[in-house]
Amino acid sequence: MPGKWKCTLCGEEIVEGQRFTFLSGIGAAHNECLMSTILSKNLNRDMVALLDANEVLLYAIVRFKEAEKTAETIEVKSVLAEIRKDIEKLAGKISNAITTTFKPAS
Ligand SMILES: [Zn+2]
Repeated sequence: MPGKWKCTLCGEEIVEGQRFTFLSGIGAAHNECLMSTILSKNLNRDMVALLDANEVLLYAIVRFKEAEKTAETIEVKSVLAEIRKDIEKLAGKISNAITTTFKPAS
């Protein structure tokens, strides 16, 4: 879980269930804040595409965590957790691409 992370863009705490992206060298950011920053500062179709794809994976991660809580048996919980970790790896790849494309507001 994000724990006590703060969004580097709005300064608010990131709470459980909110979608966020970790940008290496910049910090964690709400997906909504990242999206609105991109749209207001340097709209380009690469960033829109990356953020759109990222959103899908972040949503999947949140849903998988919910499913893990819902599941009864340790077997099903661990299957879901294993798949969720794979999705997190994929989200990490997109996060890296966003980080290299993202130009923070200056
Ligand atoms: Zn924020």
